[in-house]
Amino acid sequence: MLAQVRSRRAWIYVLSVLALLVPAAGIAYLGAFSYRDDRGAVSAQTNAQKRAAEAIAARIGHQIDEAFAAIEQAIARNDVPRGPLATPLARHWFWIQGDGHILVPRAAPPAAFEASAFDRAPCSGRLEDCVSESTRRQVRLAKLQAAQRAEACRGDGCGAAWQEARRQYMQLAAFEDTGPVALLGLARVYARLGDEKGVEGAVADLELRYGERTVEELPVGLVVATLRAGNDRGALLDIAGSVATGKYDVHPLVALGVIERLRARVAGTLPPDLAAKRSALDEQIASIRTEARAAAGLADDVPELLRDADSAWRGREASHHAGRTLVYKKRSDGSVVGFAVDAAMLEDAAGHQPDDDVAINARPLVLSSGRFPGSDVRPLAVASFGESLPHLALHLVNPIADPDPLDVVIRARSKRHVMYTSALAIMLGLGILATIRGAARARELAQLKSDFVSTVSHELKTPLTSIRMFAEMLEQGVAQGDPAKMARYHGVIVQESQRLGLLIANLLDYSQIERGTRRYTQTKENVAALARDAVTTFETLRDPEKHHRNPIQVEVSPEAMQTEVEVDRDVVIQAILNLLANAAKYGATEDKKAIEVHVGADALGATIAVRDHGPGIPAHEQVRIFREFYRSPEAYRSGIEGTGLGLALVKRHIEALGGTVDVASTVGEGATFTIRLPRPRATDRRGRDTGPKPAIDAQSNKLAARVATATDIGEGA
Ligand code: ADP
Repeated sequence: MLAQVRSRRAWIYVLSVLALLVPAAGIAYLGAFSYRDDRGAVSAQTNAQKRAAEAIAARIGHQIDEAFAAIEQAIARNDVPRGPLATPLARHWFWIQGDGHILVPRAAPPAAFEASAFDRAPCSGRLEDCVSESTRRQVRLAKLQAAQRAEACRGDGCGAAWQEARRQYMQLAAFEDTGPVALLGLARVYARLGDEKGVEGAVADLELRYGERTVEELPVGLVVATLRAGNDRGALLDIAGSVATGKYDVHPLVALGVIERLRARVAGTLPPDLAAKRSALDEQIASIRTEARAAAGLADDVPELLRDADSAWRGREASHHAGRTLVYKKRSDGSVVGFAVDAAMLEDAAGHQPDDDVAINARPLVLSSGRFPGSDVRPLAVASFGESLPHLALHLVNPIADPDPLDVVIRARSKRHVMYTSALAIMLGLGILATIRGAARARELAQLKSDFVSTVSHELKTPLTSIRMFAEMLEQGVAQGDPAKMARYHGVIVQESQRLGLLIANLLDYSQIERGTRRYTQTKENVAALARDAVTTFETLRDPEKHHRNPIQVEVSPEAMQTEVEVDRDVVIQAILNLLANAAKYGATEDKKAIEVHVGADALGATIAVRDHGPGIPAHEQVRIFREFYRSPEAYRSGIEGTGLGLALVKRHIEALGGTVDVASTVGEGATFTIRLPRPRATDRRGRDTGPKPAIDAQSNKLAARVATATDIGEGA
């Protein structure tokens, strides 16, 4: 018992220390390492965001390379398209010759247009000739203006004015500088005068003599075609289409004006084929307008682009267009190619890769350097485009309404913290519980010990008192002359001293078990014979005055008759005696109901059940009664004597032999204690036991066999 108590105390001690140490270590870990881990996780997320931003910037750079490759391919094909290229970034591309002439989009006025202004016509020859020529030009110009004024007359009385205009125009038609304008005016005057033939003659003259020239900023061919078309809507649409597709060499802005005027003349409902032509024209108008605008927008940047361009591409902000970036590079022939993009186009060019998803709805935002994303988004990381696009920076953002990825990381970590803390708290709770239970058990043991001491003292004192009393009576000669009385006194003295001796033996036996020095001698025994021997011994030893009430009935099953068990005979008999004694002590009933002993057997082994019809044992007591020194409150109350060791010894002995003991009871209906013993173990060919065999201590067995008798049979209510 002492060893058991000691080992329990050691456990309680270990658990108490663990209950403090583990949570303390946990808290230390959370405080020191976990903080470092948290920081690590946060910086890992920050790095992932940074890397994602840099990868997106690199992808945009790659798309820019692709756009330049597409431009080079278009140039190499030698069919420079007028419209945008299919590559998204190269949609608004440009190509500027080394001398500043913009090839794409077409922007520079054609040479013929430049030369058409007659006041700028070159003069070659002697200075005085040039001066007089200039004077004559001024005169002709004055005449031309006079003719135009006369022609402008409107109303009925204009016949003379128009005739005057016709005369003037005819004179001026012969001169190179005024010729085209004069012939055009002449055609108009004939039209006013209703002279169809005259009109045709003037137009044919104009085409023949000045077909390659421009008049009023328009190619003569275009003017002639328009005049000839008259009100033929199909012809007018064809002319507009030719202008749109670049057949006539005109400035885009002029071309646009011409097309729009022609388009105005074909308003209203048209037959289906013409209607289709008209809507195609409308689309061309939109595209020409864009091209014209682009050319106009680019013009101011041309000198800078030519100066800065290098073989590696770079970008700069368009001078008159905030938010527009011109990306450009110099070709080997000295010309400069490039394209205009805005931030949204660059963002789109980045596309999407799984690695970008460092936060929910993360997306790139291209902003001018020094600008920051608005308050509706959360900046996650920023990457630069390097020296190539110094005025831009790439920001990785996500909507402010979405969770902050760093919060998500921290929240996941704190979830783990809560889990750790909870686990520590549970461990702490278990430790405390174990400590409390240990303390309660220790208190219980202390109580049992003190009860045991008083019980054992009492148990020792009672027979001693009887012995002394009867010995004194014999000494005083109370039984003098009465041999029967004398014999009875002697008998009591012998019985009581036997009881005393066996009680002490019982205590010694228990202490041997506790120390682990108890030995068993196992022999093959018939289980039915064992049970019968135990019952016979019990009948012989029991005090007829005290235990006469309940007869004992033994019932042996046919299998049990044949069944052998390998046990320590004395120990098993002692155990059965113990159960019988308890049945007689606690299970006695007024109506003298029999104590039943049932011996059975099955494949696993044999059973010996002792059943009484007494008050029974409450469920909560059924485990406790097998503990050392435990006696039920009812046992104390009723004054039935005992030490609380009987069932503990039965259990220890039977389990040492490989068996079990259990109890089944319903309060008010009695209790059944069942000993189950295993069948003999397998033997090898020579008949040796192959299992471990306990050592033998015959003397202590004999002693133990008598314990039950000592502790229980001599006692009673
Ligand atoms: P003891 O008889 O010396 O008290 P035991 O270990 O033999 O010690 O029994 C422990 C307790 O179990 C008893 O105090 C008693 O309360 C209860 N008990 C044992 N056998 C019976 C029984 N057959 N019927 C009712 N209670 C019993």
